[in-house]
Amino acid sequence: MIFNLSDKHFLVTGGSRGIGKAIVNNLLSAGAKVSFTYNSNFQEANNSLTIWQAKYPEKVQGFQADIKDPLRSEGLVAEVESKMGELDGLINNAGIISDSPAYKMTNENWNKVIDTNLNGSFYLSKTVVNKLLRKGNGKIVNMSSVSGLRGSMGQANYSATKAALIALTKTMALEFARFNIQINAVAPGFIHTEMVESMDESVKKQIKSMVPMRRMGTTDEVAHLVLYLLSDSSNYVTGQTFVIDGGLTA
Ligand code: NAP
Repeated sequence: MIFNLSDKHFLVTGGSRGIGKAIVNNLLSAGAKVSFTYNSNFQEANNSLTIWQAKYPEKVQGFQADIKDPLRSEGLVAEVESKMGELDGLINNAGIISDSPAYKMTNENWNKVIDTNLNGSFYLSKTVVNKLLRKGNGKIVNMSSVSGLRGSMGQANYSATKAALIALTKTMALEFARFNIQINAVAPGFIHTEMVESMDESVKKQIKSMVPMRRMGTTDEVAHLVLYLLSDSSNYVTGQTFVIDGGLTA
């Protein structure tokens, strides 16, 4: 156990697979209670939930929620707290891509990515931070990306959301610093998720050659950084963006 998060309860969006799933796994093994969301893939969420509930009975629950919907976000937080208890923090991890060169990007694809990655994180942050204010402490971690720190070809929509999440993180961190609520962002580079697994070997090789460490990061490596930011060890850290990219942007 790297950090002890016993007696804490966190909401992780997009916890059914990829980086979010590793965050849920690591939070559970650190003793926390976890509520996680998924959107469209019930089967995948249910498979993960079944395994977790067998190992950590009463400690974990899954919730279907489209974070693009502001009303659902408010309802979700109420549902999570009534089933699992008061929240100690939120991890805005759910995110999508819909890539194409900017000049060809449809407004629909632009809006879908903004609505999910940025607006969805804002709706939930607003709702959860009100709960944390009443409680007197708490943590929020926003999942940005190195694509929000520099341009990323074909990802005008995605990069814009990830840069905006960094600005949202800094602003909310300032607004809530004196209330003992810490808000930080994590910006991963290339991370080896299930999606990467299905890529062509030559594409994987090309990606690795771009990274100074010559490998992709693991979902656990990202989760360990998130756990630090949720733990009391980071109580004097707020408004920051932590890059985890094997040296890609060094
Ligand atoms: P992923 O495997 O594609 O999983 C995305 C998760 O988000 C799923 O649980 C999905 O649920 C959920 N989701 C998608 N749309 C949603 C919506 N409208 N409402 C609620 N949940 C929704 O993602 P990942 O690769 O692990 O990435 C996780 C986060 O890290 C994202 O924010 C991503 O931008 C960021 N990131 C990833 C990388 C990387 O290399 N993978 C690098 C930098 C940053 P369903 O499956 O049920 O739809």
